[in-house]
Amino acid sequence: MVHAPNRPPAGAPPVRINLYSDTQTKPTPAMKAAMMEAEVGDEQHGDDPTVHALCDKMAALMGKEAAMFLPSGTMCNVIAILTHCKKGDEVLAHETSHILHSEGGTHAALTGVQILPLQGARGQFSADAVRAAIRAKTRYAPPQQLLEVEQTANIGGGTVWSLQQLTEVTDVAREQSWNTHMDGARLMNACVAAGVAPAEMVAGFDSVWLDFTKGLGAPLGAVLCGSNEFIGQAWRWKQRLGGSMRQAGMCAAAAIHSLDHHVERLADDHANAKALARGLRQIPGLIVEEPETNLVFFDIAATGISLDAFQDQMRAQGIMISGLGGRVRACTHLDVTAPMIDEALGAIRTVLAAA
Ligand SMILES: *Cc1c(COP(=O)(O)O)cnc(C)c1O
Repeated sequence: MVHAPNRPPAGAPPVRINLYSDTQTKPTPAMKAAMMEAEVGDEQHGDDPTVHALCDKMAALMGKEAAMFLPSGTMCNVIAILTHCKKGDEVLAHETSHILHSEGGTHAALTGVQILPLQGARGQFSADAVRAAIRAKTRYAPPQQLLEVEQTANIGGGTVWSLQQLTEVTDVAREQSWNTHMDGARLMNACVAAGVAPAEMVAGFDSVWLDFTKGLGAPLGAVLCGSNEFIGQAWRWKQRLGGSMRQAGMCAAAAIHSLDHHVERLADDHANAKALARGLRQIPGLIVEEPETNLVFFDIAATGISLDAFQDQMRAQGIMISGLGGRVRACTHLDVTAPMIDEALGAIRTVLAAA
């Protein structure tokens, strides 16, 4: 069965509070104005000045030689893997990683790599776990080629890899002559939470990308960064996959605006997430994971209500919330205010009390 596109349930009230995902933000009026004023050209042809400005800004921010604008984060992962690896190569990644669970089986369908799932608490693995996964370089074993890290780890709980943890795992990769790739969908959340500059955070990685639609509030787009050689090769895959665009500067302008105006304020999202977790801990029966960034995961199994029923009853009150990895996930972002957190807590109490 092909999964139908999501549609709002018939007769559902309008969504007042959207904790479903940080992807659900609407562009602000100032962002829209920046988009309207953007100078544009043919991106595919290398003529869009606003896309060039975004790529230059991102390369500098990440401390890499070059950058490439793409429509989505998924395409960044797919293109990075296609560029780093050949078919039959093995990619080491956490067992909860987005590339394993949420990209439609693209690595079987398109890239032809095999993913070796590594274990570890909260979406992170240790250098010892990486060492234990090293295969003998024989004709029997799949050639290991790439180590992938998700910063922040989404299903892991929005957790932040420390610089120390990152260095330890990339050191093992370096010893093995593997390439290293960071899925930085929410990298800026990690940098703001840890107080570490992006270039320092990603120094050990050959490639890294940032999503502009996760908390930064842009309508679309992600930027993949790496060496001149890497981005040069990645361009062939961008073209092959249909990821080359035309007057993409309108969207690049939104991304630039988000870097200039929506990064520091991520600290507000993190504070709102902590406030939500504090309130949830007062509700009997919930197991609440301590949020490190803007994602709050909690387990409602002990309350007897199913995830689906909980989501439906919240939706009936105009609150959207998601289920991920068997738990509830609440996500704070640009369109979620502190009073909304209090209101959402009240609704959660009501729904669970009725259950
Ligand atoms: C959202 C997400 C992606 C994919 O990004 P899209 O822009 O939605 O394609 C990849 N990795 C992680 C960790 C994500 O959260």
